[in-house]
This record gives sequence, structure tokens and C-alpha cells, in this order.
Amino acid sequence: MKVSSTIIWFRQDLRLQDNAALQAALERGGAVVPVYILDEEGEGRWPMGGASRWWLHQSLKALDASLKERGSRLVVAQGKSLEVLRKLVKETGAGAVYWNRRYEPAVIARDKVVKASLAEHGLEVKSFNSALLNEPHTIVNKAGGPFQVFTPYWRHCLSLETAEEVVVKAKTFPAPERWPESVEIEALALLPTIPWDAGFYAAWTPGEAGAKKRLGYFLKKLAADYGEQRDLPGVDGVSRLSPHLHFGEIGPRQIWAAARAQGKESGVFPANAGVQTFLKEVGWREFAHHLLYHFPKTPVQPLREEFAEFPWASDPGGKKLKAWKRGLTGYPIVDAGMRQLWATGWMHNRVRMVVASFLVKHLRLSWTHGAEWFWDTLVDADLASNTLGWQWSAGCGADAAPYFRVFAPVLQGVKFDGGGEYVRQWVPELAKMPDAFLHAPWEAPEEVRLKAGVRLGENYPAPVVDHKTARDAALEAFKALKAER
Ligand code: FAD
Repeated sequence: MKVSSTIIWFRQDLRLQDNAALQAALERGGAVVPVYILDEEGEGRWPMGGASRWWLHQSLKALDASLKERGSRLVVAQGKSLEVLRKLVKETGAGAVYWNRRYEPAVIARDKVVKASLAEHGLEVKSFNSALLNEPHTIVNKAGGPFQVFTPYWRHCLSLETAEEVVVKAKTFPAPERWPESVEIEALALLPTIPWDAGFYAAWTPGEAGAKKRLGYFLKKLAADYGEQRDLPGVDGVSRLSPHLHFGEIGPRQIWAAARAQGKESGVFPANAGVQTFLKEVGWREFAHHLLYHFPKTPVQPLREEFAEFPWASDPGGKKLKAWKRGLTGYPIVDAGMRQLWATGWMHNRVRMVVASFLVKHLRLSWTHGAEWFWDTLVDADLASNTLGWQWSAGCGADAAPYFRVFAPVLQGVKFDGGGEYVRQWVPELAKMPDAFLHAPWEAPEEVRLKAGVRLGENYPAPVVDHKTARDAALEAFKALKAER
């Protein structure tokens, strides 16, 4: 008997290798109908931001091209997932719909409805894990609850067997007799109409091949020094895999497989301390998903409830927030980070921590403003990791930096960008400042500033807040919060 077609519903798993749903569809036999649906309503409060949409456009193009090399193609649609899938089932006579799972609360709720409804109509519906080493519902602490501290979480995960990469061997994918209706990727209008994305093209190669290449390069050339270099934003020392991981162009099982292969060559796994630290960072991504799954309100509410009453500062006209977003705070390391974000859709992790601390503690503006801005401007915007990052920085999340630890932006700049490569690249108006004053140009004697062409308040802002005053105010606010309880 002829096996009916399987719809493989691509979501945040835009790759052909290590794709459990795709492999299962191929094993089922019958034709495979690869589909991507832009379903903004299905994302709940968090439809994709501008930078993510840019990435998605490129990634869908790459996926379609890879599918074409295998005698297949990507069917693209826009609308409510369930309606689109039902229509496609009708058009193709598909008997099964497979996908890889996602863990955002709104998406889980939507997928449950989709699964039940399709199954009710007699379809075989199956979902798989391709995004994580360990799915959140599979990991519990000794008390049977979710972990809230990273170290024991990760120790527990490392004691488990690591899932193997799913190898997709098929060189061609069986195509349906007739392809269903599809729109062009361009019709999704994912690219911006104002060309703020010019810098993105040079910074990234979205798609599965780009991800694989970057992982290979990182493991071979950079990973050994990752432990020392990962905090230096002016150095190419981190993997920059985050957007590839977010869109599922590469998965953690593949990272483990590549690291293991490297270990085999050198006789130890991980091959060196740098690789070990890198794998631990990928563990933070797993932990972020664990937290979001078990604490689904955290994208908008602090995990530590007392922080809901935090006395945020007022910001008439949104002036301070605007200065932060535009990289015009007068603190060079903060401004460099915010400008790197705008220009490339990504910011180095060390600087993410600095700018987040600055927003929450120096400007005393709610972390939710920062999380929303990041959501719109990051190519790796990820509800789990972004929520964890912001709640960590604001001191209100699981395993967070304590609120009273305020990052001093000048010291951070001096410590991690002492040679000034990073600030000079992203804040070119300070390029000629000598190192000694680069991270605090207001402290430079007037003649030094003039010689460097820096006119405070004219071509580079004076600091929007004084560090010590702002720090004291933040600590006072924190004390008041504690006193109220
Ligand atoms: P590497 O240092 O090479 O690390 C490898 C991988 O590990 C990363 O690609 C990422 O998937 C994961 N990882 C590393 N650090 C973390 C972390 N702290 N939390 C979770 N996963 C981690 N990361 C996102 O992917 N999306 C976000 O929206 C996001 N928002 C953040 C917001 C704030 C305020 C902060 C402080 C951090 C945020 N991060 C986010 C985490 C981290 O900054 C990025 O994952 C990292 O900078 C990506 O660069 P990389 O790929 O070179 O990382």
C-alpha cells in the first residue's frame, strides 16, 4: 500500500542534519512536504522582532536551497498554524504531521491545540526533541521540582547520557506528486523597509552551512583560548553561534558530537579547558529553557516576587531610555555595546551584562524595557535566554547576580577592553582618545580631549548619570525594597 505524505513542520529547527522530525518522516516512507508557517499570533506576546525577522528571511532562503539540492523544496505560508496545516493536509493528502518541539509558553499552548485537533481528524501527529540535550520536563531535582541554581542543574545534566546526533543520511527527499500552494519567502516581508540592516550582511552567514562552518572554525582556532578570551569584547574569541542555535541551524547534540570528535583526535574529551567552559555555556542555554518552561511568567514578571515592588526611577519623556538605546549615555563601554547591537544584531556577552546592569542600576529603569529592546534588536533574541539574562542582571531571577553588585562601567571597560579595540571600533568619535582616558573621557584634561577631537556634550555626550550617585541611589532603592518586606 502506498504510504501517504508526511508534512514536516519547520519552526526553530531550520536544518536538515540532526533533525529528529525530518528523519522520522523519511523513515515513515511516502513523500515529505517541508513547510514553514509564519504564525505571529501563535507566538503570543512575543512575535519576532526586527533583527530576528532579518535572520529568518536569510535562514529560510538557505533551507529552501538545501532542500532543492535534495529534490525537495520549502512550502511557505503565513497565518494561523492550525488553519494552514489543515489546508496543506487537504491539498497533499498527507497522513502525518511531524515537528520538533519548542518551549515558549504561548507556543506550547498553541502546539497542544494543533496536535489534538489534527489527531482528532485522523492524522498521525508526532513531535520530537531537536533543540536541547535535555528537555525541561525530563530534569528534576532531588525534591522532584525544577532546579533554580545552575551548578547543581548542570552537574545533574552531565551525569546523564548525552543524546546522540540524529544522522540524516538520505541524499534526496521523496517529493509529493504535486506541490501545494506556497508563497515566496519575500512575500513574508521579513526584511526591513528602512535599510538599518546594512551591517548585518557582513557580520553573519545565516543557515545550516554557515553554522557548521563557524562551529568548526571556533573549535579548531578559538576554543582552546575561550576561557581567557571570552570576556574580551574586542577579540574574536567566542563562538557567535547564538543566532544559529536560536533558529536551530545547529543543535547542541551536534556541538557535543563535534567536541567529542575533537576529543578523539586529542585523546581526551573535552579536548581542553576552553572547550569544557564553552560546553558549560551551552549548558546555560539549556538551563534558560528549563527555567522558562517551569516558570512561564518570567518573561514579564520577576522570578523573585519581592522585586515586583521595586521602586524604579521616573524617566520623563523617556530620555534616559532613549540615550541607552542609541548608545549615547556618555559611558564608552555601554555606548559601544548598544551600537554594536544596532549595527550587527548581536552584542558580546560581557557587554550585555554591563549595559543591562547600567539600565537597571544606574538608570534604575525596569529590566523589562531592556528585554523588549533586546527582543527587537538581537538576531539571537530568545525568550528563554533573554529572560534569564535580564533577570540575572536585575538580580530578580534564579541564580542571579545580587542586586547590590553594581557593574562599574569604567572599571569594566578598563579591565576587559584595556587596549580600547572595542570602544574605538563602535564609538569612533573616541578613536583618538589615549587609553588612559578612553573609558572615562570626562576625566581627561581639556587639552587632551581637544587633541583627540572630543568635545563633551557636542560630539560625544557627557555621562547621563554620575556613577557614584547612581550607584548609591540604586543601593538605597534596594534597601527600601528589603525594608518594606
Ligand atoms: P558563546 O560564549 O560562544 O557561548 C556558546 C553558546 O552558549 C551561545 O551561543 C549560547 O547559546 C549559550 N550561552 C552562552 N552564554 C549564555 C547565557 N548567559 N545564557 C544562555 N545561553 C548562553 N543569549 C541568547 O542566545 N539570546 C538572547 O536573547 C540573550 N539575551 C541576553 C540578555 C542579557 C541581558 C544577557 C546578559 C545575556 C543574554 N544572552 C542571550 C546570553 C549570552 O549573552 C549570549 O548567548 C552570548 O553572548 C552569545 O554569543 P556566543 O554565541 O558567542 O556565545
